[in-house]
Amino acid sequence: MSEHICPHCKKPIYDDEALLCLYCGESLGRPKYFLKPRIVFIFIVIVLLLSFLALAIRTF
Ligand SMILES: [Zn+2]
Repeated sequence: MSEHICPHCKKPIYDDEALLCLYCGESLGRPKYFLKPRIVFIFIVIVLLLSFLALAIRTF
């Protein structure tokens, strides 16, 4: 478990997935690549489904 210090109120946040400070509600300013992997996975699945649907429509 890693500790992250809020840049606004300087309090430690122990939630690795938190994007907002638990104390002041400000963004923790984490880099964009720190997106939750689950969201990225769901996005990829949706894109694959849409491309499959497009292919299926073209076949009919
Ligand atoms: Zn804060």
